[in-house]
Amino acid sequence: FEGMTIVELAKRTGESLSSLQDILLNVGEKVESEFDPLSIDIAELVAMELGVNVRRRHSDEGAKLLARPPVVTVMGHVDHGKTSLLDALRQTSLVEKEAGGITQHLGAFVVSMPSGSSITFLDTPGHAAFSAMRARGAAVTDIVVLVVAADDGVMPQTQEAMSHATLAKVPVVVAINKCDKPAADPEQVKLQLASEGLLLEEMGGDVQVVEVSAVKKTGLDRLEEALLLQAELMDLKARIDGPAQAYVVEARLDRGRGPLATAIVKAGTLVCGQYVVVGSEWGRIRALRDMVGKMTDRATPAMPIEIEGLKGLPMAGDDIVVVDSEERARMLSTGRTRKSEKDRLRKISEGRTEAEESSE
Ligand code: GDP
Ligand code: MG
Repeated sequence: FEGMTIVELAKRTGESLSSLQDILLNVGEKVESEFDPLSIDIAELVAMELGVNVRRRHSDEGAKLLARPPVVTVMGHVDHGKTSLLDALRQTSLVEKEAGGITQHLGAFVVSMPSGSSITFLDTPGHAAFSAMRARGAAVTDIVVLVVAADDGVMPQTQEAMSHATLAKVPVVVAINKCDKPAADPEQVKLQLASEGLLLEEMGGDVQVVEVSAVKKTGLDRLEEALLLQAELMDLKARIDGPAQAYVVEARLDRGRGPLATAIVKAGTLVCGQYVVVGSEWGRIRALRDMVGKMTDRATPAMPIEIEGLKGLPMAGDDIVVVDSEERARMLSTGRTRKSEKDRLRKISEGRTEAEESSE
C-alpha cells in the first residue's frame, strides 16, 4: 500500500473512506489530505488493521547492488558432526586467529579467507531453527551444507534436511564428514545421495560434494571453496545504501545490557542510533557489536551483528525494519503486538471450533 493515497486505498480494499479514516485515527495518524501518499509505516498499520498480511520489501530499483557474502546453514542427521564441523570452520577464520580465539557467541560467525572473500555461517544447526525462521518468512540462508557421516550414510534427518532445502529452494553443498574413520565409505554415501535424487556434480549434476573430517580438520578449505563457488553461481548481491532490512537469528537477555539480538542484515546498512521495530518489539540501537565484540557504528549485508537497545526480547526469524522516529517505532510495535494477539486468539477459537465440530 506504500505511496497510495487514502482514496486509492479505499478503492483497492473496498473499504469505505470513513472506515479507513477511523483506522488511521486509531493508529494515531492524522491525514492532512485525502491526496497525501501513505508512508510505508502507516501502510503497514492499515494493512494489519484490515487483516492483510504485509511484508516489507524496499525497492532495489536503481540502487547500487554489490556482491555480498553467502549465508550458510549446516544441517544433517544427529551425531553426523554438525557442531564439530561448525567449530572447525570457525577456527579457520582469520578473525578468530587474530583475536586469539576469543570471539563472542553471536549465533553466527564469519569466515574470512585470505582471498578477501568471506562466508557467514549460522551457528544454530538443526532443522527446527531453519523451519522456524522460514515459517516467519525469514529467508536468511543462501546455501545449506548437508553433513552426512561417511560411516553412517543417509539417515532420516538427512532426508528431512534435503526436503527442507528443496522446499526453501536453497541449494545444497554436501560435506561427507568423518572421512578419517576406518569404516568411512564416501563412495557408498554418494550412491545413497544420488538414489535420494541429489544430482551430484561428479555424476553430471550440479551439487558439489566435499569429503571432510571435522575432527582431523581436513577438507575444510575445499568445503569453503565449494561454498564460494556456489555463491558465485548464485550471483548474490545486495543493496548497500538506504535503510536496512535485517533478520534476528538469536536473542538473549543480558543482566547488564538488557535484550540483545544477533541479526544479519539482508540489504541496506544498519546504523547505530536508528529506531527499529523488531518483530513486535522496538528500540533505539544503543550499540552494535561485531563477532569479536568490537563496537561498530554500522552493519552491511551478511554481517552478523549484535544489537543492544531493544525494549523487549525478539524471536529468531523476526524482521528488523528501520523507522523515522520513536513515535513511529512505538506505534508499529503496538500495532504488531495487537495483530499477533488477535491472530493467536483467532487460531485458538478456530481450533476450538474444529474440535467442537469433530466431536459432534
Ligand atoms: P551433531 O549432532 O551433528 O552436532 O554431531 P557432533 O558434532 O556433536 O558430533 C557427534 C560425534 O561425532 C562427536 O562425538 C564427535 O566427536 C564425532 N565427530 C564429529 N566429526 C567427526 C569426524 O570428522 N571424525 C570423527 N572420527 N568423529 C567425528
Ligand atoms: Mg550438535
